[in-house]
Amino acid sequence: MGDLSQHFSRAEFACHCCGDLKVDPKLVEAMEELRARAGAAIVVHDGYRCPAHNQNVGGVSDSEHTKGLAADISIAGLTVQQMYELALEIADFKDGGIGVYDAGFVHVDVRDYAARWARVRGQYVGIQHLIKEPVVNA
Ligand SMILES: [Zn+2]
Ligand SMILES: [Zn+2]
Repeated sequence: MGDLSQHFSRAEFACHCCGDLKVDPKLVEAMEELRARAGAAIVVHDGYRCPAHNQNVGGVSDSEHTKGLAADISIAGLTVQQMYELALEIADFKDGGIGVYDAGFVHVDVRDYAARWARVRGQYVGIQHLIKEPVVNA
């Protein structure tokens, strides 16, 4: 039992540099849904980032992380592809942002429009033109 929700704690979402925390309830709900679908623990690598920390890690200036709307996650035993497809099953992530990273994690956020991208060898690349309507066996 976490102190943020059933499976998540505030510490997991707090900024790595200063411990500040901003997290939207919609993100927490979507994360719980994702966890239920995964049936496995979700590791939160990055949740809220204060603007200074966001800049230090090279995040885009208006990063959803600075708004408490985003998390970078991985799920034990799942590939990036599997995590991506699982995230698509959650409405708030499907209608929000999902990014895949070759470092082996997935970014999910609950912004109010769909966005997809990948970061490969340090470069951000758009993938929406490739997978406009991804096929998912929901
Ligand atoms: Zn900070
Ligand atoms: Zn992220």
